Amino acid sequence: MAHYFDHAATTPMRQVAIDTWVEHTQALNPGGQYTSGRKANAVLSEAREQIAELLGAEPIEVVFTASGTEADNIGVRGLYRASSLNRVVSTEIEHPAVLETVKSLAAIEGAHVDYLPATATGHVSDLAALDSPAAVATCMWANNETGAIQPVDRIVAKANEQGTPVHIDAVQVVGRVPINFGELGATTMAMSAHKFGGPRSAGILLAKRSPVPEAVILGGGQQRGIRSGTVDVASAAATAAALSEAVTEMDQEVVLLRELRDDLVARVRAKVDDVIVTTTEPALPGHAHFMFPGASGESMIMLLDSLGIEASTGSACHSGVNRMSHVLDAMGVDERTGMGALRLTLGRTTTSADVEFLIENIAEVVRKARIAGGL
Ligand code: PLP
Repeated sequence: MAHYFDHAATTPMRQVAIDTWVEHTQALNPGGQYTSGRKANAVLSEAREQIAELLGAEPIEVVFTASGTEADNIGVRGLYRASSLNRVVSTEIEHPAVLETVKSLAAIEGAHVDYLPATATGHVSDLAALDSPAAVATCMWANNETGAIQPVDRIVAKANEQGTPVHIDAVQVVGRVPINFGELGATTMAMSAHKFGGPRSAGILLAKRSPVPEAVILGGGQQRGIRSGTVDVASAAATAAALSEAVTEMDQEVVLLRELRDDLVARVRAKVDDVIVTTTEPALPGHAHFMFPGASGESMIMLLDSLGIEASTGSACHSGVNRMSHVLDAMGVDERTGMGALRLTLGRTTTSADVEFLIENIAEVVRKARIAGGL
């Protein structure tokens, strides 16, 4: 069994999600005006109600998508298109699902974008760009690379003062922090089932009644016209089941993760010279992002993999070119340091034996990766 340290990329499906998924794989089109269609629709409605209840939303606000990426695209682009303004406020540390959407609004739809800067710890704190109105403001709740939790309540409150709709990318925080969509007051919010033990390629967009994001893809007008296409009932039901367990077990899981993660971080610090612990509070409990200046991140991943330890550098590599992550860049990290990034993310299947094995090997891996880095 591999020692899996990439839970922020995806986490194994919860058994309850697998069982629910299997139970409903034969569900037919929930739009069908006949018995089997109504049956499928009843399962879908129940999933929607359950998800709404768990997230402090109304059932009508729950829109099923095929990924977190799709939910981000609809939220950001859809709200932009629903507005008569052409200004967008975003941050420099967004996941590509938001960042590339924002860039394309600028390049193709004539948007003017102002970015909220990130501090050296990876947090957004200067919110001045929200002081004038925009078509949409968007910020992630927590960063996927560093785990830094962002001040989304302050961001929403400030944007709302100007009447600016807000999209929140909550993909990394489900099952890690309590979420109440209604109380937060955001206009749209994106989530992804495979990050909390649901199936892959199943996302949720929460979308307030108004303003409604304009459709990004056109079709049969399902789900308030926000997201056309036949909904996968089995995935929706499995998502609801996973979410329910994730929320129920959250408090307990967070304590365990934090304990394991803190132990891991302290022992890496003790074992390896010249290490920077990037993850800074407030942060997700399962994230441990390190930078080993002079090491090659890519080499670390390969060396760890050869030992049966699965981890990532934290950033998606763009078209095969190994570059420093845009998040670290925005934090002002220099290239030599940022290229030595290693993201270890723990989840509910992580054990102290996994941490033990990592600790036994990390110093040698970094030593070799520093030779490979040649810096
Ligand atoms: N947003 C964040 C913060 C993420 O971490 C991810 C996935 O890594 C996504 C969006 C995209 O989600 P999905 O994989 O469901 O498309």
